[in-house]
Amino acid sequence: MKNLESLVRPNIWALEPYSCARDEFKGMEAHVFLDANENPYNDPINRYPDPLQEKLKARLAPLKGVRASQIFLGNGSDEAIDLVYRIFCVPEEDNVVAIAPTYGMYKVCSDINDVEYRSVALSEDWQLNAKALLAATDAHTKVIWICSPNNPSGNDFPRETIHEVLTNFEGIVVIDEAYSDFSTQIPFRSLLDNYPNLIVLNTFSKAWASAAIRLGMAFASEEIIALFNKVKYPYNVNLLTQEKALALINDFAAIDGWQAQIRREREHVLPALAELPIVLKVFPTDANFVLVKVTEADRIYRYLVEQGIVVRNRNRVQLCENCLRITIGTRQENNELLGALRFFK
Ligand SMILES: *Cc1c(COP(=O)(O)O)cnc(C)c1O
Repeated sequence: MKNLESLVRPNIWALEPYSCARDEFKGMEAHVFLDANENPYNDPINRYPDPLQEKLKARLAPLKGVRASQIFLGNGSDEAIDLVYRIFCVPEEDNVVAIAPTYGMYKVCSDINDVEYRSVALSEDWQLNAKALLAATDAHTKVIWICSPNNPSGNDFPRETIHEVLTNFEGIVVIDEAYSDFSTQIPFRSLLDNYPNLIVLNTFSKAWASAAIRLGMAFASEEIIALFNKVKYPYNVNLLTQEKALALINDFAAIDGWQAQIRREREHVLPALAELPIVLKVFPTDANFVLVKVTEADRIYRYLVEQGIVVRNRNRVQLCENCLRITIGTRQENNELLGALRFFK
């Protein structure tokens, strides 16, 4: 890896961050808080929340097998994705490399930040070629994006292939593991200490069933997390979200139960889809959704909407012609979908 300073935007490296009232006063002895122009009424939401979410990080660290200082929490993973650009990429000068097809926010955030986005197509069976990915980089490539299990293809990439990218690229490699709880692969966040250039993304939105609270996680070296903390909005994760997340973690058995149920449903839905005459291919999946190639995606999509069932039409996405992306739901929801598809003419 290049030294961190040479990868970070010079203005960010030099940035003197905003120091909020709760940063300056850290002691717990005070009981009269007249430092932040808060309203003394309407407890508890009258107070600014912990800017670094320390209680929540202390609970998450053992669950995720990382140190609390290696965690950034944001308003969904989407905040972490945007911050990666704002920290590392000089607009109009630097570039990033990603696979295609993949999660759309990497490209949207590159456009917003005016950073060139280079995409390298996966093979027909959604495999990643590390050499091709590395060949697309140049001296101005700051970041490589890898989503595994990948959205929308659903598969995770062989660990050796990802290791090859991590070892041979001098810049930052972001591995988005939003769906890793549905996969049997060992997650890459366990290797933070081996790869100083690694950032791993996780989210509360999928396996942890909490998309509405908007809470995403980034795991990286302490030096990289310090940069995230410097650039983020001071109170980026609100109190209600922090409290809801703590309550969820206290009931971790529920999360495990949902995950097990979704995996079982996946085993039920995949073969049933494969038997339908309108389904040409069910791609292998390690996530809580499946990409399916059908005879005529647009018509089937519209037909399902008429039945009150929404799936994701990926027909116009690169390499995904006539593909629908279908989330695994409850047994009843899945059966409703399968029943509707059986009647499609
Ligand atoms: C759903 C998803 C996320 C989660 O985004 P949040 O902002 O945390 O809800 C992240 N990455 C990928 C690839 C996803 O599909």
